[in-house]
Amino acid sequence: MDGAMMPAKTTLAIEHLEVGFGSAASVINDVSLTVQEGEFVAIVGPSGCGKSTLLKVIAGLVPSRSGAVQMGRLKIGYMFQRDTLLPWATTASNIAVGLELAGVPKSAHAARIAELLSLVRLDGYESHRPEALSGGMRQRVSLARLLAYEPDIYLMDEPFGALDYQTKILMGRELLRIWDARRRSIVFVTHDIEEAVTLADRVIVMAAHPGRIVATHEIGFERPRDPRRLRSDPRFAAMVETIWSDLSLVD
Ligand code: ADP
Ligand code: MG
Repeated sequence: MDGAMMPAKTTLAIEHLEVGFGSAASVINDVSLTVQEGEFVAIVGPSGCGKSTLLKVIAGLVPSRSGAVQMGRLKIGYMFQRDTLLPWATTASNIAVGLELAGVPKSAHAARIAELLSLVRLDGYESHRPEALSGGMRQRVSLARLLAYEPDIYLMDEPFGALDYQTKILMGRELLRIWDARRRSIVFVTHDIEEAVTLADRVIVMAAHPGRIVATHEIGFERPRDPRRLRSDPRFAAMVETIWSDLSLVD
């Protein structure tokens, strides 16, 4: 069979997921979604609609009340909004954590760290500690650590949410550049609609009370994408507007 005709392989399948804490009402209600191998899926929705909880259930950190999360024995990489770097460790040592988890032999660390530093454009910063780096640089170290682990699926929870606008755009561009070269599955949570439309193949729109999916949009813009150019494309504005109205149709 022609490669292009092969059916896409499913990386993650979630069916009728119901999640709640204690005896409180469910915070996620009947969520179903699938992520194909190499697909970049963004999830947008207002604060409190259960985006972080959904990622935690996928990662197995929070149990579900009912429904199913099906994922092969995959290496899961998790990136949080706040950087979780070791404060006392240098950039190189922080990245080495990812290499150790991936089982990369010590003798190969230095070369791999140099490669990753260049990939996230932090050459020359290997000996800096997090406190000596800007917020954007710390998130790039986190990204390098994530890449060092070589996950099969990336779960990213508003990874650039705490950054200033310009840095956020630049980080998005870096992520796309890296993703274009590797094409791993990504579930990228954000409350920023423009960021979602810029990055993803598919945008899933959630609403709150209870957290549920209200719309799904295929984002067909050609790749590789240039985030700056894309933002001035009228089709981009139209898609952002569509998602805005999805969100305003519900509470
Ligand atoms: P989002 O990431 O979309 O802002 P969250 O997934 O963090 O939303 O939270 C969804 C809802 O679940 C919120 O109402 C929040 O208060 C509740 N919630 C999240 N984690 C817990 C927890 N550990 N215990 C109780 N309630 C929680
Ligand atoms: Mg959250």
